[in-house]
Amino acid sequence: MNTIADRLNQVKQRIDDAEKLYNRHPGSVSLLAVSKTQPARAVLAAYNAGQRRFGESYLQDALPKIEALKNYDIEWHFTGPIQSNKTRAIATHFSWVHSVDRLKIAQRLNDQRPAKLKPLCICLQVNISHEQNKSGIHPEELFTMAEALSLMPNIRLRGLMTIPEATKNRENQRKSFNKLRKLQLTLIESGYSLDTLSMGMSEDLEAAIAEGATVVRIGTALFGSRD
Ligand SMILES: *Cc1c(COP(=O)(O)O)cnc(C)c1O
Repeated sequence: MNTIADRLNQVKQRIDDAEKLYNRHPGSVSLLAVSKTQPARAVLAAYNAGQRRFGESYLQDALPKIEALKNYDIEWHFTGPIQSNKTRAIATHFSWVHSVDRLKIAQRLNDQRPAKLKPLCICLQVNISHEQNKSGIHPEELFTMAEALSLMPNIRLRGLMTIPEATKNRENQRKSFNKLRKLQLTLIESGYSLDTLSMGMSEDLEAAIAEGATVVRIGTALFGSRD
C-alpha cells in the first residue's frame, strides 16, 4: 500500500530528477501540496513526513482544516477561484494567494489584510491558452494589473500562475509554460522584482520545471484521486 509519506517521497524524487534533467539548481523548485477536498488527517500525514506548504481551492472546505491545524507550522496558500464575499477570510487565514485575476479582488485582499500580518503574497493567474471559460487575466492586461498592485501596501506581487489546457504531450505542455515564463521575464525587465512562477501539477510538473517553475502545485500524485 502506498502511504502519503511514500507518495510525498515519490513526488520529491520527480522534482529532483526534473531539476537535474533540465539544469535547474537543486532545491530551486518548491512543492505546494494541494490538499483541497482532503481531510485534516491527510494534511497531517504529509506534515509528519516533512511537508509545510499546503494549497486549498475551496474556502469552506479549507477553513475547518486551518482551524483544526492551527498549532502546526503550516503555510497556507489559496489556489482557487475567488468571490468578493470570500476575500476577508482569505486575507486573514492565508499567506499566499495564487489565483488573483481581477483588480477588485486584489484591492479587497489588500484592504482586508489584517495589519498585524505580513503583506499577503500574490500571484496573478494568467489565462495563457485564451480559453473562454477559464479564469485568469489575459496577457495584454498583465501590465496594468501589475502596476495597480504595486501601489497596494498590504499585498506583494511575487509572480505569475497558470493552469494550462490539459494535454499529455510534453512539448505542448512546455509551450504553454514557456509563454508564462516569457511574460514573467518581460515584467522583470520592466522593473518588477518577481521570484515566483507557480506552474505544474501532477501530470505536467516535469514540463513546468523544464520551463522555470519555482512552485509546483501537486494534489493527486500526493493524496490520490479526489472524488
Ligand atoms: C487541484 C489543483 C491542483 C492540483 O492538481 P492535481 O492534478 O491534482 O495535482 C493544482 N492547482 C490548482 C489551482 C488546483 O485547483
